[in-house]
Amino acid sequence: MCQTSKMPKISENARQIVERIHEFEQRYERPAGSVTLLAVSKKQSPESIREAYGAGIRDYGENYLQEAEAKITFLQDLDVRWHFIGPIQSNKTRAIANLFHWVHSVDRLKIAQRLSEQRDRGLPPLNICIQVNLAAEGSKSGVSPAHAESLCVAVDALAGLKLRGLMAIPEPLDDFAAQRAQFHRLAELYRSIKPRVCCFDTLSMGMSGDFEAAIAEGSTMVRIGTALFGPRM
Ligand SMILES: *Cc1c(COP(=O)(O)O)cnc(C)c1O
Repeated sequence: MCQTSKMPKISENARQIVERIHEFEQRYERPAGSVTLLAVSKKQSPESIREAYGAGIRDYGENYLQEAEAKITFLQDLDVRWHFIGPIQSNKTRAIANLFHWVHSVDRLKIAQRLSEQRDRGLPPLNICIQVNLAAEGSKSGVSPAHAESLCVAVDALAGLKLRGLMAIPEPLDDFAAQRAQFHRLAELYRSIKPRVCCFDTLSMGMSGDFEAAIAEGSTMVRIGTALFGPRM
């Protein structure tokens, strides 16, 4: 029987990625089920998201508010958790605070305060990860490792938010040991801050090219786009 080529591809990719995540949990002595797959659906169609949903994926990450608003409206019938993972402009915080379940890219207190104030009081607190810039230079977003702890303590005090952990987008590297070394730095920072905040349980690290190294170093959420959906539009 002849099948259209696209549908089985995303579900087949999803199956393989989930299998590899389980394999890496075992290999690196992580508890089974401790790593969540966050499907990064930026620049992917709503139809592709439906296919991934059909394969059992329930967490989706978006980088651009306008694009995400349209998809979230269109896919209202799906029971998914939406994660905002892109740079945040302060005039967009109200929409972000109320459309998403998680925000991974908070790197300054002013943005956190706005998200907290603008989150609808009828909704549960918005889950937050603080984005850390491991490179400590250049134009990338993220708080410096040196300032991460004080930012976490301040964000943890905001009523509309629930601080869950740290996120980073390290430099893409090919060498496995070098990838691990970068993730190790974030994991160390996470462990040093954990005693000072209430509900730290999330290390958002690892993408298509480096999620094995991230899981080896303690990632609890891998953000995977191209390996799941293929190239972006
Ligand atoms: C695009 C993006 C990803 C996914 O990257 P892939 O290499 O396609 O897996 C993960 N995290 C963030 C923050 C992104 O912007």
